[in-house]
Parts: sequence; C-alpha cells; structure tokens
Amino acid sequence: MTLAEIISKSNNIVFFGGAGVSTESGIPDFRSEDGLYRQKYDVPPEVMLSADYFYAHTEDFYRFYREKMLPLWAKPNAAHLTLARWEKEGKLSAVVTQNIDGLHQAAGSGKVFELHGSIHRNYCLRCGASYDAAFIANGKGVPHCSCGGLIKPDVVLYGEPLDGGTVEGALDAISSCDCLIVAGTSLTVYPAAGLVDYFRGKYLVLINRDKTALDSRCSLVLHGKVGEILSQL
Ligand code: NAD
Repeated sequence: MTLAEIISKSNNIVFFGGAGVSTESGIPDFRSEDGLYRQKYDVPPEVMLSADYFYAHTEDFYRFYREKMLPLWAKPNAAHLTLARWEKEGKLSAVVTQNIDGLHQAAGSGKVFELHGSIHRNYCLRCGASYDAAFIANGKGVPHCSCGGLIKPDVVLYGEPLDGGTVEGALDAISSCDCLIVAGTSLTVYPAAGLVDYFRGKYLVLINRDKTALDSRCSLVLHGKVGEILSQL
C-alpha cells in the first residue's frame, strides 16, 4: 500500500517526529552526518545540554544555547504545513514531537505534545515569571528575571524527567490512533523513543533519511526527506 492510500484510509493519524522534521527548515539535527554531534566542541553538546552543566556552567550553557538552539529565523516547511492541514481536515489527531523549535505551532497545528519542551517558554526559577525566546536571544550573558532569579528555558535537559502530563497525552494519542507516522528521528533518545511501542493501530509508517531500529516493524518504510514526501500528499 502507498502512503497516499494509507492516509486516505486513516481518520485518526498521529505523527511522531524528531529533529529530522526541521532540517528542511534549516535547523541541523543532532546525529546526521552534518548534525550537531558530529561537530567538534571542547565539551560535547550532550554534556552542555545537561541539567548538571546548566547549573554548574550557566554562562557557557547560554553561549552554546544562544548560538545553536535558538533558530528564531526558521520557518515551517512542507512537513509542518501538511500536518497542520491534516489536523484541520480532521484526519490527524495529534503531533508528538521531540523538537523544541515550535515550528508545528507556527504552521498552525493545535494539538502538539512537546516531549522535550520548547525554546519559546522560559521561566524564572525564583518567582515563575515567564519570558519569550526573543528575551533570551537578545540578551547577553546569563538571563535574569526582574526579581533577580535565574531564567531557565522550558526545555528538558539531559538528566531531567519529561513532563508527566505531556507524556500522558502523547501516550493516549499514540495508543488510540489507527495510523502512526514516525519521521525524522533516530529513535535513540529515551524515554521519548519508547512511546512508539504503545501503538496498537493498523498502519505504522516510517519516514526517515537513515535506517532506524523500527524499520522492520513498519507497514511502510520510506527512506527520504519528510518534507518532500509529505508535500506530495
Ligand atoms: P537525531 O538527530 O538523533 O536524528 C535525526 C534523524 O532524522 C536521523 O535519523 C536523520 O536521518 C533523520 N533526518 C534528518 N533530516 C531528515 C529529513 N529531512 N527527512 C527525514 N529524515 C531526516 O534526532 P532525534 O531523534 O529527534 O533526537 C535528537 C534530540 O535533539 C531530540 O530530543 C530533539 O528534541 C533534539 N533536537 C531538536 C531540534 C529541533 O527542535 N529542531 C534540533 C536538534 C535536536
């Protein structure tokens, strides 16, 4: 069966995506050839993006974060836009994403479970006041609240747990959909990657540039660019 046939037969699609969904918007992923993890740093990105590093080396964390994790110039691509259209047409019930860039919402998607949080929400650790991404991007050094407290992005850093309510919503959506499209993810970041195991529906579709451990379990595997593929539907 082709992807177009699967989509036409499905009325409760859930999309589970990762960094590869935003590479066609110009945001590098982590593990591809040209991904962030293949670049050379004195401290590896996975260490710099950990909670321990945030608290112990806050200034260095923010230098890296501003340079690499705040692509406020990025625009939704064909993948984001197609998913938003499917939601409006009543075909897609939710997007579950590991991305933190907010591009699904920018494309018009309403039901988005952001497993790893969002760069667009930032909170004062002392008084809870919220700040947008522009406040962080335009500031210098360590961002502080007007109360003097340290501001932290609402992004799940390595070593931090996922938000319980977000995981619950994502699990509900995945375990009750008839078609799960997994795309643009190496499926190596846990516990997020484990959520696809809760799928009980009919069509499991994988769209990814590289092979993944899920390929052998799928009804359909397409090795290519997710934006290009979804733009044809
Ligand atoms: P990953 O970097 O581990 O893997 C990305 C996967 O996407 C690779 O398998 C690659 O082959 C595939 N890919 C790249 N471009 C593609 C395209 N155009 N079409 C189809 N497939 C494509 O990413 P991950 O599994 O999401 O794990 C990385 C973690 O880093 C996640 O937690 C994510 O939150 C975070 N991250 C987020 C962003 C973002 O918000 N845009 C960017 C980088 C990393």
